[in-house]
Amino acid sequence: MEYDFDLFTIGAGSGGVAASRRAASHGARVAICEAGRVGGTCVLRGCVPKKLLVYAAHFADDVEDAAGYGWHVAPPAHSWPELIAAKNQETSRLEGVYRKMLADAGARLIEGRAKLLDAHTIEVGGQRLTAAHILLAIGGHPVTPKIPGVEHVISSNEALDLPTLPRNIVIVGGGYIAVEFAGIFHGLGAAVQMVIRGEELLNGFDDDVRVHLAQAMRARGIVIHTRTEIAAIEPEREGFNLTTKAGGELSADVVMYATGRLPNTTGMGLAEIGVALHPETGAIRVDEWSRSSVPNVYAIGDATDMLNLTPTAIAEGRALAETLFNDNPTSARLDVVPTAVFSNPTIGAVGLTEREARAQFAAIDVYRTLFRPLKNTLSGRDEKTLMKLIVDRASDRVLGAHMIGPDAPEIIGGLAVALTCGATKKQFDRTIGIHPTASEEFVTLRTKLPDPKAKAAE
Ligand code: NDP
Repeated sequence: MEYDFDLFTIGAGSGGVAASRRAASHGARVAICEAGRVGGTCVLRGCVPKKLLVYAAHFADDVEDAAGYGWHVAPPAHSWPELIAAKNQETSRLEGVYRKMLADAGARLIEGRAKLLDAHTIEVGGQRLTAAHILLAIGGHPVTPKIPGVEHVISSNEALDLPTLPRNIVIVGGGYIAVEFAGIFHGLGAAVQMVIRGEELLNGFDDDVRVHLAQAMRARGIVIHTRTEIAAIEPEREGFNLTTKAGGELSADVVMYATGRLPNTTGMGLAEIGVALHPETGAIRVDEWSRSSVPNVYAIGDATDMLNLTPTAIAEGRALAETLFNDNPTSARLDVVPTAVFSNPTIGAVGLTEREARAQFAAIDVYRTLFRPLKNTLSGRDEKTLMKLIVDRASDRVLGAHMIGPDAPEIIGGLAVALTCGATKKQFDRTIGIHPTASEEFVTLRTKLPDPKAKAAE
């Protein structure tokens, strides 16, 4: 049977666009369907606008630090509306770039909400279209716990478009989004309180990094309420009153929740055509080839139960296009995935944390350094950089590299190549560093931390 398209992608975000362009470049007849703006979470509501705001906030540090270098800067003033207008202009420009890239690749953009009627038939705006392969690149959305008054809170979507900078904001959650927005709002001049249900921020990151981040954020003036859960939110004459489960009270102009995201998998006929979803999260179950439980239906990115990161969605999308349309079976390799948090200070991590490595390997060595970056000497900024390497004692392979401090994402991005190649500690030691930089510390680490097992046996 002849279908209208070889590939029908639903969702024009980073993953969907990457897959569609690659498929079209191999000669496939491709349609890509989008219900909102082209570009997806990363370009329109996530990574890109967030990072622009991170840059904006960082100027506050730069101005402060400049004094130690002889600059006399008058107290600066910041305009939030100007920043948001500039950010919107850039995201609109990027949307145009995405549209052009799709058109240049020969993929047909179909605007509207898609629904699957069967494994080969899609309905968009009353029109029925057929495809040999369907790719679900439908992304996710923020979720909030169901508590009284939760309708008053904003998510990161609205935080990027507030009409004015809040004077004080409460941010609930301690993950990527919460810590990044805490740094943004604090840097731009808001009073920030974070509310987390555990003891530390950033579950899943290396414990030393987590402790260091909380210390640094507190030292900058961000209040972190640990082991605290919000029971109810009530509007007041100005702002909101929050009651905690333990009976405490907090108040804020704006309450933001960053308590995780869930896939956009409801209301489009997925379960009806037999696509298996995770019973709790609704994530599409896929194998290492991005195949769902329906043979010609695939899923990538935030809609799946794999990693929720833009570069992994892109890698999955390109791998799928190679497999389907270039006779080149490719599975996106997701075992060594670096990640960064654009908190202030920034974090970069690749490979295993110390805790994960101890659980998986018989014996590991841990190298750690804590130092004051050169720039902070003259500026007088009292913030240190932490770096850590985790090494498998038996093979000498470096299992993990972690950093918190200026430029951590850039430095860890480079180290990810070494870990992907399976580099050993000896190879790190043989590497010549660049002086004077922070990155040279990673190749000059010589002193192992005492082994906790050996210490306990003493
Ligand atoms: P995360 O999953 O990273 O963090 C969610 C946070 O909310 C955790 O601290 C969690 O606590 C807390 N939480 C969850 N449920 C509740 C609840 N009912 N009450 C109170 N606290 C709760 O989600 P984010 O929303 O921060 O980000 C979503 C995803 O977006 C990330 O997983 C990441 O993949 C991606 N992202 C990546 C970025 C990057 O690469 N730089 C930047 C931003 C987002 P606990 O730890 O106790 O479970």
